Amino acid sequence: MKKRLPTSTAGSLPKPAWLAEPEKLWSPWKLQGAELEDAKRDALRLSLQEQQHAGIDIVSDGEQTRQHFVTTFIEHLDGVDFAKRETVRIRNRYDASVPTVVGAVSRPKPVFVDDARFLRSQTDQPIKWALPGPMTMIDTLYDSHYKSREKLAWEFATLLNQEARELEAAGVDIIQFDEPAFNVFFDEVNDWGVATLERAIEGLKCETAVHICYGYGIKANTDWKKTLGSEWRQYEETFPRLQASSIDIVSLECHNARVPMDLIELIRGKKVMVGAIDVANHGVESAEEVAATLRRALQFVEADKLYPCTNCGMAPLPRDVARGKLAALSAGAEIVRRELGA
Ligand SMILES: [Zn+2]
Repeated sequence: MKKRLPTSTAGSLPKPAWLAEPEKLWSPWKLQGAELEDAKRDALRLSLQEQQHAGIDIVSDGEQTRQHFVTTFIEHLDGVDFAKRETVRIRNRYDASVPTVVGAVSRPKPVFVDDARFLRSQTDQPIKWALPGPMTMIDTLYDSHYKSREKLAWEFATLLNQEARELEAAGVDIIQFDEPAFNVFFDEVNDWGVATLERAIEGLKCETAVHICYGYGIKANTDWKKTLGSEWRQYEETFPRLQASSIDIVSLECHNARVPMDLIELIRGKKVMVGAIDVANHGVESAEEVAATLRRALQFVEADKLYPCTNCGMAPLPRDVARGKLAALSAGAEIVRRELGA
C-alpha cells in the first residue's frame, strides 16, 4: 500500500430497500431466484460506487450478498441443519434462534468466491473480504454432533482456510476474520481461539486481518456496553497472544468507545485498523473528530501501519448516515495525512 493511512470499513454497509428491509439484521430478501441474484450484484456495484465516491481506499463488497456476517457462511456448509433451530445465548449476551450442527461439517462448494471475483472485475483498488472467525461461528450455532466448542472450531478453521485460499486466488488483497467473540471468551481465545484463527490463514500469501469489536449498534450490544464500566480493557486479555501470532492486521474499535488507547501498544508491530467511526450512533462524525482519534492512535502505532477504519459494520444504519460516515472517515484521514507531510 503506497498511500499513507489507507481507509477502509469493517465490512458491512446498508442494503438498498429494494433488496432487503433496511436498518435490520437478518433482514429477509425481498426478491427470489434469478431476480435476487441479479439484485445482489447490483447492490454490490452500488456499494462499491458509494465507497469510491467517498474516497475509501481499500474497498469491499459491503456484504451486500449475505444476510448476516456469520449465518450466511454457515448456510452453505453441509452438516448444519437450518430447519432444526435452537435458542442459544450469543456471546453471553442475547438469545437468538440458530441452526444445529447435526453431523460432520464440510464445505461442498465455495461460498463467496464468485462474488469476490465479481468485485475484483469491478475495480483495480485493493479489496478486503470478510469471513466469520472460527470462534464466532461456533458461538452462533447449536452443536449436537461434536459436543466440543474447540473441536468444532478446528473443523470450521479448516473450511475457512479452503474458502480463504480461493478468495486469495480470486484476487482478494486482504482477508479479514470477524471475531467479536474474542472480546468475550478470553480463556478460550488464549487456549485455542488464536490457534484456530492461524489454522484458517495457513498458507495464505495475501494479507490477513482479525476484526474484534463491541458489535453492531443494536440494543443488546449497547446494553452490554453499559455493564462494562468506565474502561473497556477486554483487548488487554487477547492482544499479547495476537501480537505473537502470524495475523498481519488487527481491526479494533476506538472512537467513542471506552477502550484505553494505549492498549494498542500491546500489538506493536502489527498493522492496526483503527475504528474512527462510531457505528452505534446516527450522528455523523466531523472530519476533525476522526482526525483527533487517528492522532491519538498515532502515539501507539507507526504511521505506516495505521489504517483508518470504522468501529464495526454499518449494515443496520440508514444509508445516508453511512454515506456521511464514509465521507467523514476519508476527510479525517486526509487531515492527518497532510499533517504527516505525506
Ligand atoms: Zn464488528
